[in-house]
Amino acid sequence: MFRRIASALAALLVALAAAVAVGTWTARSRQLVVPPLPPLALDKDAAAASLAAAIRARTITGVPGPEAAAAAARGFDELHAHLRQRYPRLHATLAREVVGTHTLLYTWQGSDPALAPVALAPHQDVVPIAPGTEKLWKHPPFDGAVAGGEVWGRGAWDDKSNLISQFEAVELLLAAGFQPRRTVYLILGHDEEVGGSEGAAKVAALFRQRNVKLDFYLTEGLVVTQGILPGIAAPVALIGLAEKGYVSVRLAAEAPPGHSSMPPAPGKSAIGMLAAALARLDSQPMAGGIQGVAREMFATVAPEMSGLQRVALSNPWLFAPLTERMLSGQPSTNALMRTTTALTVANAGNKENVLPGRADAVVNFRILPGDTVADVLAHVKHVVADERIKIEAVGEGGEASPVSSSSAAGYHHIERAIREVFPGAVVAPGLMLAGTDAKHFTGVAEQLYRFSPVRAGSADLSRLHGTDERMSVDNLAEMIRFYHRLLQLAAGAPPTSSAPEGKQP
Ligand SMILES: [Zn+2]
Repeated sequence: MFRRIASALAALLVALAAAVAVGTWTARSRQLVVPPLPPLALDKDAAAASLAAAIRARTITGVPGPEAAAAAARGFDELHAHLRQRYPRLHATLAREVVGTHTLLYTWQGSDPALAPVALAPHQDVVPIAPGTEKLWKHPPFDGAVAGGEVWGRGAWDDKSNLISQFEAVELLLAAGFQPRRTVYLILGHDEEVGGSEGAAKVAALFRQRNVKLDFYLTEGLVVTQGILPGIAAPVALIGLAEKGYVSVRLAAEAPPGHSSMPPAPGKSAIGMLAAALARLDSQPMAGGIQGVAREMFATVAPEMSGLQRVALSNPWLFAPLTERMLSGQPSTNALMRTTTALTVANAGNKENVLPGRADAVVNFRILPGDTVADVLAHVKHVVADERIKIEAVGEGGEASPVSSSSAAGYHHIERAIREVFPGAVVAPGLMLAGTDAKHFTGVAEQLYRFSPVRAGSADLSRLHGTDERMSVDNLAEMIRFYHRLLQLAAGAPPTSSAPEGKQP
C-alpha cells in the first residue's frame, strides 16, 4: 500500500516538474527583432548646452504667493525665448499657440489629412528645491552646469530633457527636409507638477472643441531601468499603458472629552476608536494579484529572465499564490498589483491629561485600473465596520486611467524606436504609479502612453524631484535619436528598410 502511494506521488512530482519545464521553456520571447539603426549625426554638446539653458529658466510651480508666480512667469518667458532662438526651423514651420498663460501648443501640419494626428507632451515646469537641500547639490540646481559628462540641475530629467530632445529631433528632421504625413502636436504644459488644470486640461478642451482626435499621445513616464527588476540583467524599458487613480479618505471619531484620570472603557475614546479603525484598514488592503497591466508586464519580461524568477513567472498556474505573496512584500511590486492604502495624516489631542473630543485621520489610496473611487469608499466602510466613525472622501479624487493597448500601432512605433536606439533593452508594458498630464487626454487620444527614454539605475531614482538631478550628455543624445526615429515611424512614410523584421522565433 505504502509503496503504491509513494510511486503515485513520485509520478505526480515528475509530471509537475515536466509541466513546469515545458511552461518555462515554451514561454517565447516577445521582443521585436530589428536591424541596427544607421548612426545619426548630431551635436550632443550643443544639445547639452540647450538643456542647460532650459534649466537656467526657473519655471518653478508649486510655491504659493504672488512673488513665486511672478518669478515663474519670468522663467517661462526666458524658456520660450530660448526655444525660439535655438530652434529657428521649428519656429518657421510649426504653428505656435499660447494656451492659458504659458502653455505652448505647436502644430506640425501633416500632408495626409486622413491620418489621425499624434502628440508628444513634455512639460515645462519643475518642482521646487526642498528647503534646506540647496547646499547638498554638487552644482547649484539652476546654474545649468555641464560637468563630468552630465547636465546638472532641476528639470535635467523631469521633464526638460524630454522637451529639449524632442525639439532637437524636430529641428534635425526639418533640416533633412522631413515632411510628416501625419500631423504632429507638441504640447508643452506649464503646470503638470501641480495637476495640469491650467495647461494640459485646456489644450485637451481645445482639441475637443476642434474635433481633434489623436491616434496616440506620448508623455513622460516609465524609463529604461537597469539592475532594478530581479532576474534580468538587460535594460528594461517599460511603456506605461495606464496610470493609477487617487483618492484620500478622512476618518473621524468623536467622544465626550474628559479628564484622563477616569478614561472610558477600551475602544470608547476618540483615539481608541480611530486607532482600531486605522489598524483594520492598514492590515486589510484591497484585493489584488497579478492581473491586468501587471500580468501583461510579467508575461512579457518572464521569457527574458533567468533562474527561479523565470520559472515562477512562466508558470502562474502553479506558482501564482507564491509569486503574489512575494511581490506583495515589496512596496514597488505591491503597488503594481493592487489599490494601495497609505495612512498619511492623524490628528488628535494636544494635552497629555485630556481625552480629546475628536480624532481624525486621512488615508490615501492609489487606485488600480479596474477599481474605482466608489469601490475604495465601499471598502473603507466595510473594513472599518464601525458606525461611530465618520467616513468621507477628501475632494473628488481621480479615477484610474483606462488601459491603453499594447497591440496598437502607436505602441509598436514606440517599442520599435526603443529596440533600435537602446539595443538589447527588453520592452514591456507597465503601470505608472504617479499621475501625468495624460489624464486630461482620456477620450481625446485613442491611446495614451507614458514613457521617457531615460536610463536609470536604482541610485538614480531618488534624483527625480530630489537632489543632484542630472542627465548624461550621452543619454540626451539617445533621447534625441529616440524621438527622431519615433517621429519618422509614427508620422513619416512607411519604413523602407529592406531588412527582415519580426518577432524572435
Ligand atoms: Zn514630470
